[in-house]
Amino acid sequence: MKREFVRAVPVLDQLEQRGYLAYFVGGSVRDSIMGKEIHDVDIATSATPQEVKEVFGHTIDVGIEHGTVLVFHEGEPYEVTTFRTESLYKDFRRPDQVEFVTSLEEDLKRRDFTMNAMAMDKEGGLYDPFMGREDIESRIIRTVGSPDERFSEDALRMVRAVRFMSQLGFEVEPNTYQALREKAHLLSHIAQERKTAEFQKLLAGKLPKEALRAAASTHILYYYPELDSLMERMDEFLSLYLKECQSFEEWLAVIALVSSKKESMYRGWKLPTAVIKRIKTLIEGYEQRNMAFFSRYQLYELGLDNAHSIERVWSVYSGQPAQHAAIDDLYARMPIQKETPLSFSGNDLIKWSGKKGGPWIKETMKDIIQGMLDGEIVNEKEFVKQWFILGNKR
Ligand code: ATP
Ligand code: MG
Repeated sequence: MKREFVRAVPVLDQLEQRGYLAYFVGGSVRDSIMGKEIHDVDIATSATPQEVKEVFGHTIDVGIEHGTVLVFHEGEPYEVTTFRTESLYKDFRRPDQVEFVTSLEEDLKRRDFTMNAMAMDKEGGLYDPFMGREDIESRIIRTVGSPDERFSEDALRMVRAVRFMSQLGFEVEPNTYQALREKAHLLSHIAQERKTAEFQKLLAGKLPKEALRAAASTHILYYYPELDSLMERMDEFLSLYLKECQSFEEWLAVIALVSSKKESMYRGWKLPTAVIKRIKTLIEGYEQRNMAFFSRYQLYELGLDNAHSIERVWSVYSGQPAQHAAIDDLYARMPIQKETPLSFSGNDLIKWSGKKGGPWIKETMKDIIQGMLDGEIVNEKEFVKQWFILGNKR
């Protein structure tokens, strides 16, 4: 048994000592069978959330309406979820309310895929009523029970299927794949936040191209706002050297470029403002980079992180080799960098000039910074002051 499980055994022990059943479940069991790193160890129990709270002194309610309580052991948090069914689906979404049950098998039955529907006890014994292990060995994604029914209950499972394709490199079992085609339209009922979160995981997986191809051919992608142009240019898009994309924002910038759209295409995606802003920086940066290599001033304004990110987007979309070393080299040789504190401020300029504030301040600051980057002005307050006073008299 993996170290992460061993460390969590006392949590199962405490529940069992009070007469409840408790098992490890979900992604961690799947990942450990695959010999992969495991992250969160999730626990399922026959105890109700109230009972879980009575067993453990310190808990946090994280999703009590779904039966989940956060329990701490030796500083580690564990999600402990009461066995439940989700029999009352409506509108093709997960229900707002769940029904707690006392059998492990009932709980495993409501899970999405066979590989995710296994449980492990504290001795490492596997409970695998749906042959998840066999599917893992055959590298197959298969729903627990009828795919049509399971996707109609909760349409998000379809995006999860392609997301797992990308993360695990598995194939979708043929009946399950057929159901993806037939039920993709139900994704119109799913909250965009949930779809976006799964899409982000898909892109961060190890085989995003294969997963995107499947998502396009099953029409899942139609249920993401404004991806119609991408769908039309899917072959062109997939022929790009997409391996170079290192972040969600870089991926979305490349998708916008292929679609001949701006960052505004993601308005309906429920993305944080900071993400939209970064996509805008990347798209605009790409456009400038496509005309000429970075100037010192551009690098100063962007900083290294943004510049490398733009370079990747440019390289992917233009098909030309990225010049990361040239960026590092130019940046290292700049007299001041984005991080360098300036020796003067806008207030100093007002004081030295005796003029009122206004747009001239920003312009003058830009001139001074440019002068510093050209090696003509030293980043020392007295030097800047003299330069400014002389210049102003001119
Ligand atoms: P990850 O490694 O990305 O966390 P995971 O399998 O743990 O993958 P989660 O979204 O954390 O995925 O969900 C935990 C478990 O809950 C899954 O393994 C699965 O058993 C179940 N599950 C999650 N979402 C659904 C769903 N929409 N329908 C049915 N079961 C689900
Ligand atoms: Mg998980």
